Amino acid sequence: MKLRNKVAIVTGSAQGLGRAVALTLAREGASIVASDINLEKAKAVVREIEVIGQEATAVKADVSNKQDVEGMVKTTISQFGQVDILVNCAGICSLSPILEIEEEEWDRILAVNLKGTFLCSQAVFREMVSRKSGKIVNISSASAKIGGVAVGAHYSASKAGVICFTKSLALAAAPYKINVNCVCPGPIETEMTDAWGDEMNTRFKNMIPWKDYGKPQDVAGAVLFLVSEEARYITGETLDVNGGLVMD
Ligand code: NAP
Repeated sequence: MKLRNKVAIVTGSAQGLGRAVALTLAREGASIVASDINLEKAKAVVREIEVIGQEATAVKADVSNKQDVEGMVKTTISQFGQVDILVNCAGICSLSPILEIEEEEWDRILAVNLKGTFLCSQAVFREMVSRKSGKIVNISSASAKIGGVAVGAHYSASKAGVICFTKSLALAAAPYKINVNCVCPGPIETEMTDAWGDEMNTRFKNMIPWKDYGKPQDVAGAVLFLVSEEARYITGETLDVNGGLVMD
């Protein structure tokens, strides 16, 4: 077990990538705070983690709301005493073409994907600094590097912001030996991509050298590596998980 006695907050963990990350970290011995805007589904993930034999608690938090985020960290500290790992998985996607993006939609995508990553990281970083230890992993997207071929410009811009925020936070965190890294998935089979429909998914799969989408476990494995001792000296890095879609 790579994460025995560690406490991990995973946002957006009610389904998709967040759920896979929460279960993967739990299997390696971490206690999990399963945070999501959807409490009922987060509770179901907690039950799955308990079956593994690990401790977990579900917390309802909208990552774009500072009060919710502070409450999430407070609950973690009062229940588990510390926070060792934060994985920022909560995110929303839109395929709206540029001329159809309303200002409110732009603001909501940026608020959840970019501000949410900032608010959660800031709240947790404060705790980590006092203990001079911690790991933060942000989930960006392949679209952050190539623009919104499949997804909206607001989505890809928010995810590009996540990459740069990761680097800035990694610099601020370096004196405390806190690692801050980023995973950039290409399309992965989750409820998010299910919503795109068969025709679009077939077209996108053909654009990928592997001719297939990734599985949530592919991303969870990359996250596990970045929060483990094997990645001790890796920080400010962006790890692509995309079947060859983007190579840089
Ligand atoms: P998903 O299946 O839609 O799951 C995201 C989870 O986050 C859902 O439970 C969602 O709840 C929750 N959420 C939404 N807004 C939230 C908020 N404001 N505060 C807290 N939780 C919120 O998405 P996914 O495919 O697992 O994606 C996870 C992350 O990976 C996202 O950041 C996404 O942008 C990124 N990503 C995904 C892919 C992909 O192909 N799947 C590729 C690249 C990057 P509701 O369902 O109730 O909204």
